[in-house]
Amino acid sequence: MLRILVPDLYVPSIYAVNAETLVEKGIRGIVTDLDNTLVAWNEPEAPDKLVHWLDGLREQGLRVCIVSNNKEVRVRPFAERLAIPAVYEAGKPRIRAFMRALEIMRTHPGETAMIGDQLFTDIAGGNRMGMYTILVVPISDKEWVGTRMMRLLERQLLRRVAPPLTRAPEGDGR
Ligand SMILES: [Mg+2]
Repeated sequence: MLRILVPDLYVPSIYAVNAETLVEKGIRGIVTDLDNTLVAWNEPEAPDKLVHWLDGLREQGLRVCIVSNNKEVRVRPFAERLAIPAVYEAGKPRIRAFMRALEIMRTHPGETAMIGDQLFTDIAGGNRMGMYTILVVPISDKEWVGTRMMRLLERQLLRRVAPPLTRAPEGDGR
């Protein structure tokens, strides 16, 4: 098993990520994926629950930056509405976009968490950077066809590295 694919934490959804706990661990910044992590794939609306969760992070002094492999037209309007900086067409797991996010948040990798729903992009990239990596169960089955292919392999790996987790209850994170 490649260490680089193993998350530090595996949770049902972002709402299981506790801001105070992260701060106690010395985390100051959060890089987060967008699709199927914050909301369903290509979902343009941010639910109130997400807005409150983000407010909670910021109240704890945490900085947040979206890093997404999706296109500007998808990522930018979503991020702007939430007043969060974002890097689109990130090419995760390549490190370039992660470096950019650190620059934006002015944090070091060791004090930064990466939250995402995919092992091969989010977790691999975050681990390469030396960040604290948090894997969430994808919000929806709907996704880009390339992602769906990778899920087959991902499921095999997950069975080895983490106890089975199920999706958050219907309506969670949408
Ligand atoms: Mg995703």
